Amino acid sequence: MEKVVIMGAGPAGLSAGYELQRSKIPVTIFEADSMVGGISKTVEYKGYYFDLGGHRFFTKFDAVNNLWKDVLGDNFKKTPRLSRIYYRNKFFNYPLTPLNALMGVGIKDTALILSSYFRAKLFPCKEEETFEEWVSNRFGKKLYSIFFKTYTEKVWGIPCCEIQAEWAAQRIKGLDLSRAIINALHKSKKSDIKTLIEEFDYPAYGPGMMYTHMKNRLESLGGKVFLKSKITRVNHSDFRVNNVEYIDDKVNINKMSGTEFISSIPVTELVQIMNPPPGREIIEAARKLKYRSVITVDVIVNRKELFPDNWIYIHSPEVRLGRIQNFKNWSKNMVPDENKSSLGLEYFCNENDDLWNMKNEDLVRLAAAEIERINICRADDVEDYLVVRVPKAYPVYMMGYREYLGKIREYLKKFSNLQLVGRYGLFKYNNMDHSIMTGLLAAKNIVQGSRDYDTWDINSDDEYHEEKKVLHQ
Ligand SMILES: Cc1cc2nc3c(=O)[nH]c(=O)nc-3n(C[C@H](O)[C@H](O)[C@H](O)COP(=O)(O)OP(=O)(O)OC[C@H]3O[C@@H](n4cnc5c(N)ncnc54)[C@H](O)[C@@H]3O)c2cc1C
Repeated sequence: MEKVVIMGAGPAGLSAGYELQRSKIPVTIFEADSMVGGISKTVEYKGYYFDLGGHRFFTKFDAVNNLWKDVLGDNFKKTPRLSRIYYRNKFFNYPLTPLNALMGVGIKDTALILSSYFRAKLFPCKEEETFEEWVSNRFGKKLYSIFFKTYTEKVWGIPCCEIQAEWAAQRIKGLDLSRAIINALHKSKKSDIKTLIEEFDYPAYGPGMMYTHMKNRLESLGGKVFLKSKITRVNHSDFRVNNVEYIDDKVNINKMSGTEFISSIPVTELVQIMNPPPGREIIEAARKLKYRSVITVDVIVNRKELFPDNWIYIHSPEVRLGRIQNFKNWSKNMVPDENKSSLGLEYFCNENDDLWNMKNEDLVRLAAAEIERINICRADDVEDYLVVRVPKAYPVYMMGYREYLGKIREYLKKFSNLQLVGRYGLFKYNNMDHSIMTGLLAAKNIVQGSRDYDTWDINSDDEYHEEKKVLHQ
């Protein structure tokens, strides 16, 4: 009988575990945090529910959709979507619609946008290696500098010329300025442009609800989930994992052996806890892979209504704030008092930079001043707050990352009973559904006693991204 050990109880690890347990294969999951859901968890504070970001549930994978519906049933609701860009004290449609963007920036910038677009069409950059080149080729330099550069650099913390074009290709699919204009002029025709989804699914109490229910289901089938249990070592021989060591909530070090292992913990950490360790080259490659983090300053605001959007992208360079979530517009259940609102104010940062190390009181002071500055509400409307730091929120597709990741992948693929899944397990900038799909397929491999599916090769572009989506995460 297989005995499966899973590292991490985010969407990927839990889905793998649930799938196995449904096939009567016993699983034990170790989760470092005190709750499940990973970066898709929901934090509760005084009856308010805060999503870490805003998690739209959207997928083209039937298996994932069925799983979500099976787990939450009627608690999984359709939510109308509205999101806009805030720039130069104005709101712009998101994703950009040409007329709205051109009218909003004024005649002079419109002329510059069009001339730089035609220049890009006549003299495109031949090698599209960077984000800047990829976007400028499709939208022209001027539009790129107004609507892509500032926000993208806020998110990634590095210049757009250091971000791989691959990221843009993955996130901004099927769109360029002329196609967008044609689309706007032929609104009645069904567009082939993968535009915005008008509505999405969302659990009544945020994404954490999905994963808490999944954990409960898994446990009711006999699976085990150990919280506050951090994997600290993965012992192996002859390219087979024998057991893992973990520190439990009483700071005891324990061992758990298994026949099959699935890891959803950051791959950069995994290679560092392999025992015996891999070669120096692999450890070095892991050190070179970078993540971007996010701080969510979650505030309770003494205002019944603030704005109609689910979220707003803050392009304005004069504030450090990157994005605002308005949780009432995601689900009414997130806010217990209908006369109040709650916002998630997202600051993109690096672990241990000035924002990351700022005291919570200072962070909320900064955040309150910034939302006043961009006319969302007055700073003293903020009544209470909770700060959540989310390390490793985004794997960074910086130049050269593929080579480093390739070395790590080559090493880990040699292990016959270890599969990697999920966003950080595979170092793939993906959504919940892709993370879950990799978990489900890893489970399937174990159930079938095969390796029919290679989780590294499950393509995040395969008809499932949130593409409909578009310019930003
Ligand atoms: C701001 C933001 C907005 C997003 N919006 C969306 C969206 O709208 N729609 C969408 O589909 N996706 C969205 N995502 C992506 C989504 O959050 C991820 O794809 C998903 O959570 C990844 O799941 P995972 O299980 O692979 O990883 P995680 O969620 O990161 O789970 C990994 C788990 O492993 C645990 N762990 C780590 N190290 C150890 C260790 N040593 N021992 C034990 N446990 C360990 C962690 O604590 C964590 O619980 C968003 C992400 C962010 C950051």
